[in-house]
Amino acid sequence: MFSELSLEPTRYKYVLIPVATIGCGKTTVFRTLNELFPNWSHIQNDNIPKSPSKSQLVDSCLTELAKPEVDVVLCDRNNHVFRERSQLFDQFLALKENFLPADIGLKFIAVNFVKSTLTKDKLWDITLSKVSKRGNNHQSIKFNEDEDHARSVMLGFVRRFKYLDTSVEPDSLFDDVIEMDIENENFSFNNTKKVIQELSKFPELQKAGIDKVDDTQLKSAFEKALSYVPTFTKT
Ligand code: GDP
Ligand code: MG
Repeated sequence: MFSELSLEPTRYKYVLIPVATIGCGKTTVFRTLNELFPNWSHIQNDNIPKSPSKSQLVDSCLTELAKPEVDVVLCDRNNHVFRERSQLFDQFLALKENFLPADIGLKFIAVNFVKSTLTKDKLWDITLSKVSKRGNNHQSIKFNEDEDHARSVMLGFVRRFKYLDTSVEPDSLFDDVIEMDIENENFSFNNTKKVIQELSKFPELQKAGIDKVDDTQLKSAFEKALSYVPTFTKT
C-alpha cells in the first residue's frame, strides 16, 4: 500500500572499483570498455587536479551516474590500501542521496587486478615492465624523464598494497568481485572480456545488450585503448 514510500531501490547502477597498483592495466581495461559502451563513464583520478576537496573523484562519479543514460561508472584509481577502499564506500553512501533518487541503488563491483596467488615480487616485475614501456605516456608518472622517481612511487604502492580480503570490512562491502589475471601477454584484452562476461548477469546491463559484444569489436576497442595518450599533466 505504501510502496511509493519505500526506500528500497527498484533498480541499480554499477560502480567498478579497481584493487590494483600502478601499471596493472586499469586504464586500458576501462578505456576498452568505454569504447564498447560509450554510455558508461570513465573517471580517471589521474585527470583530477590536486585539490583540497577529498571527495572529487566520488562527486564526479555520482555526477555521471545521475545522468539517465549512464548505468555504469568506471572509477579509475588504484585503491591499493584498505583506507582508500573505505573512503570510497563512505563517500558514495554519504553523498549518493545528493545525486540519485532513493529508488536507484548502487552496486559496488571490485575489479581485482592482484589475485591472492600473485606475489609482490611478481607484481613488481610485471608492472615495472609495462610502466617502463609506457614511458612518459602518463599524466604524472614520467618514466623516461625521471626513472628513479617513477620506480620509487611504484615501489611505494606495491609495498603498501593490501590484498583484497572480502572476509572483513571494507572489502566485505563489495557486492561482487571480478578477478583479473595480469600474468599473460595482452592481459587487458582477456580481462576486459571477463568483466563483460561477469557483468552480463546483472539484469539492467543484460537488457542494454552487454553480452552482444563479439571478439572483433573487442579487439578493435582494445587496440584503440592501447594507443591511448593522455592530454592532461598532473603535477
Ligand atoms: P594503469 O596504471 O593500471 O592504468 O595501467 P595502464 O592501463 O596505463 O597500462 C600500463 C601500460 O601497459 C600502458 O602502456 C598500456 O598501454 C600497457 N598495457 C596494458 N595492458 C596491456 C596489454 O594487454 N598488452 C600490452 N601489450 N600492453 C598493455
Ligand atoms: Mg591508469
